[in-house]
Amino acid sequence: MKAITGREAFIGIGVSEGVRIGKAFVYKPLKLSDVEPGKAEHPAEELTRLEKAKASCTEELIGVIEQTKASLGEEKAAILKGQVSFLNDPAFYPPMQKLVETEGWTAETAVQKTVQQVAAIFEGMPSEYMRERAADVRDVGTRLLVHLMGQDGARLSDIREEVILVADDLTPSDTVQLNKNLVLGFVTRIGGKTSHTAILANSLGIAAVLGVGEALDSIPHGVSLLIDGTTGICMVEPDEAARATYTAKQQEEQAERERLKAFSSRPAVSKDGFKIEIAANIGAPEEAEGLVERGAEAVGLYRTEFLFMSETKMPGEDVQMKAYAQALKAMEGRPVIIRTLDIGGDKELPYLELPHEMNPFLGYRAIRLCLDRKELLHTQLRAILRASVHGSVKIMFPMISGIPEWRAAKAMFEEAKAELLAEGKPIGKKVEVGIMVEIPSAALLADRLAREADFFSIGTNDLVQYTVAVDRMNEKVSYLYDYFHPSVLRLIREVIEASVRHGKWSGMCGSMAGDPLAAPLLLGMGLKEWSMSPSSIQRVKETVSTLDREACVKLTDEVMQLDTPEEIRERLKLFLQEAR
Ligand code: PEP
Ligand code: MG
Repeated sequence: MKAITGREAFIGIGVSEGVRIGKAFVYKPLKLSDVEPGKAEHPAEELTRLEKAKASCTEELIGVIEQTKASLGEEKAAILKGQVSFLNDPAFYPPMQKLVETEGWTAETAVQKTVQQVAAIFEGMPSEYMRERAADVRDVGTRLLVHLMGQDGARLSDIREEVILVADDLTPSDTVQLNKNLVLGFVTRIGGKTSHTAILANSLGIAAVLGVGEALDSIPHGVSLLIDGTTGICMVEPDEAARATYTAKQQEEQAERERLKAFSSRPAVSKDGFKIEIAANIGAPEEAEGLVERGAEAVGLYRTEFLFMSETKMPGEDVQMKAYAQALKAMEGRPVIIRTLDIGGDKELPYLELPHEMNPFLGYRAIRLCLDRKELLHTQLRAILRASVHGSVKIMFPMISGIPEWRAAKAMFEEAKAELLAEGKPIGKKVEVGIMVEIPSAALLADRLAREADFFSIGTNDLVQYTVAVDRMNEKVSYLYDYFHPSVLRLIREVIEASVRHGKWSGMCGSMAGDPLAAPLLLGMGLKEWSMSPSSIQRVKETVSTLDREACVKLTDEVMQLDTPEEIRERLKLFLQEAR
C-alpha cells in the first residue's frame, strides 16, 4: 500500500471532529514591545514608509468597519471609526513624523514611542471612558506596525478566505473576533480536550487539533494543510494519496451526519423507557438559535463569561439582560441554565486588571472572585432575574468548594431578588438555583449541599483536573486527563445518588456528557440531564436508544470494580458493541 503522507505529518490531540484540507493561516500576533528601537539610515525613506503604512492602514480600517457593521453591528464598528480618527489626530501621527525627521528613529520605533506616550496620557485621565481609549490607541498602533513590518498572519482580521488557523494558542478574546465562516479548522501548540479553544471549536463545528507542541513550527504560513479532528493527524502539503483517502473520509463523515439527522427530532429514551433530558452548552445567545431543531430540549450550560470577554468594559445590567433574554426566547420556554461569571483560569478579563497568578486554576477564579467583587455578581443576578420573565431560567454557580461559598452565593441571589421585587420589577415565577459540582470537595459534600440546592450540574472538565491534579491545558500531562478515572467515577456516582436521596436532580455539563462511550455509565447511574456541545446531541441520542437501563445499572456496578481508565474504556466499548 502506498504510504499516505505529506511533506510533514504529526499527531496532536483531536478535540473536534472533521477532516479539513485548507490553506494554513499562521497567526503570530504582533505586539508593540516586539519592536527593537533603532535609528534609521535614511530618514526620508522612513517617512515615506510611515506615510504608506498610514494610508494602507486607513484603507484597511475602512474595509473592516464595513464588515464589522454588517456582522457585529454599529456599536462595534464605532470603535474602529475611533481608530481612523486617531490616525488623523494632530496629537498622534505628526509626533511620529517628528521623531523620524528630527531624531532619526526608524518608522517602527517612532510608532512604538508615540503610541506608548499617547496611551499613557489616556491611562492617566480621570474619566473611565477616556482611560479605556488607551486600548484603542495601542490597537491602531499595532495595526500600523503590521503594515510597516509586512508580517503575514499578524491579525485575525486579515483572514479573508477559507483557512485553517494555526496558532500557539487562541485566547477567548481572539476567538470572539474571528470570522467563523472562514475558519475551517484550528491547530494549536498548546491545549487539550477541554481547553476553551476545544469547547469553542466543538460548539461552532470547527475541526480542531490542539497540543501539537513544537511540530507547529513546521507549518509555514499559506501552505496547504490537512487535519483530522478525530485522530489528531496533521499533514503539511499532503500528497495525492493522502488527499484521496481523507476526501473519502470526509464523505463518510458527511453521510454519517445525514444518517444521524433523524435523531434530532426524537427524544433520548432507553429501550426500557428511561427518558433523559438532552441539553446543549452555549457560549453566546445566538448559539441558542436553531438549537431546538438540532435536538436540544434545554440549555444545560450558558457560559456567560464570553459575553464579558467580547466587550472592552464590563457589560452593564441592561446589556446582560438583553443577552440572557435572547437565549431564553430562542428556547421558547424550555429550561436555560445560566452559569454566573466563571472568569480566571484560562479565561482572562483584561479590564478587571487581575494580578498575575502562579496557579490561576487554583486561584482567584469564578465564584471566589464574584464573592469578593460582589458588584459583578449582584449586577449579573439582577440581569438574569429581570430576563427570567422571558422563559424558564435556572441559575448555577461555578467552582463552589463548600457550604459557606454556596450560602454566600445563594444569599446574593435572594438579595437581588428582594431588591427587584421592592423596585416593582417583574421576575419569573420559579427560578431554581443550583451548584456546579466541579471541585472534589463539593462532590464529597454532595449529601450536605443537596439539602440546600435545587440541583447539581457536574462539570467533569474541571472535576477531572482537580481530582487527578492534571492541568486541563497541558498537553504534556494529557495522558492522565481522563473522566474514566475510577476516582472521578466514584465522585460522579456519589453526587448523582446524593441528589436523588434528597429529592433533587443532577445533570452534567462537562464534556463527558457528550461522549457516547460514557452513555451506558451515565444511564446506569441515573443521570437525568445531559448537557453537551450541540454537535454531539444526535449521536448521544442514538446511543441511548440502543441501551437498556437495567443492563446499564448492572454494568455500572461491574465497572466501578475496575482499576484503570483503560480497563473501563475497553469494557464500555465491548458493552456498546454488544448493545448494537
Ligand atoms: C466543566 O468544568 O466541566 C465545565 C463545564 O465548565 P468549564 O469547561 O467552562 O470550566
Ligand atoms: Mg468548569
